[in-house]
Amino acid sequence: MELYGKTLNELIAVTRQVGLPGYAARQIADWLYKKEISSVDEMTNLSVKMREYLSREYEIGISAPVSVAESRDGTKKYLFKVLTDKYIEAAYIPDKERATICISSQAGCKMGCIFCMTGKQGFQGNLSSNEILNQFRSIPEFRKLTNIVYMGMGEPLDNIEEVLKSLEILTGEWGYGWSPSRITLSTIGLTNQIKEFLEKSRCNLAISLHSPFDEERRKLMPVRKTNSISEIIGIIREFDFTKQRRVSFEYILFKGLNDSPGHVKELARLLNGIKCRINIIRFHNIPGSEFRSPEPDEITGFRDGLNKKGILATVRASRGEDIGAACGLLSTLEQNKKEERKTE
Ligand code: SF4
Repeated sequence: MELYGKTLNELIAVTRQVGLPGYAARQIADWLYKKEISSVDEMTNLSVKMREYLSREYEIGISAPVSVAESRDGTKKYLFKVLTDKYIEAAYIPDKERATICISSQAGCKMGCIFCMTGKQGFQGNLSSNEILNQFRSIPEFRKLTNIVYMGMGEPLDNIEEVLKSLEILTGEWGYGWSPSRITLSTIGLTNQIKEFLEKSRCNLAISLHSPFDEERRKLMPVRKTNSISEIIGIIREFDFTKQRRVSFEYILFKGLNDSPGHVKELARLLNGIKCRINIIRFHNIPGSEFRSPEPDEITGFRDGLNKKGILATVRASRGEDIGAACGLLSTLEQNKKEERKTE
């Protein structure tokens, strides 16, 4: 069992098992999340008895990525082995003063979005808070990181328990002490879980919208759990998004599908009065996909149309295209290699 990835309450339960007071749990959290030790022996302010117990029953649980692909633009994609024999990806994205890590919350995904490589893998399992945080902690650029986005493989709110635990560790004063404003979770819109996330965390929220029309959106994101757009927007309107917490909408632009003036008009109507931003994302082609990205001037035209209607919209710069920018490509290749090795 791993110690890394345990919340303070879980560490208190560990210390109680050997009759130690609660402050011993804070000491362990300090070693794990502030002093970044790699073995129990380094926890020198714990009694020898406690260290022996921890070494016998637990491991720290930090594991290095199995490989890395580096783009010309500095983006790196790290591949991690999880759940014994599955693979997930985390992307490191440096950009001037910012250094962002995009982390995964599941191996594969149940949601089946038809434009997504991870969706094509199907669901392989939920990551534990240890496996989620290990992506952040074990990359060489760990100390340079300024932002974390839960936008990698999987639907984070479909694994809400472990995701909330990881957020508690990242933002707790006994943990990494990160400001929630530097962390964003992206979801396709599971309404019950959005409420829980907004109540239990202060991190930013990004909704993958991709169309303002329900029927069209359901074709792109067919999972039945995807709630209607009006339900999602209704929840967003209930919560107070102040300066400390932001809501944004992700919008992948597909040529001839969701890039018309009618889409601009409906987006402006839908989001009227909500303090938010639309991040327009150019579609990154995936093998076997019939979707195409609009031309660069069509993308900026779409953005300008939204801005003219009072909706703040920006085009997200494409990063890591030479190493397969679409999330899930690297892990799919690794999984295929593994299958090939099995049949040889
Ligand atoms: S886009 Fe996100 S929610 Fe949809 S299949 Fe891919 S990983 Fe899952």
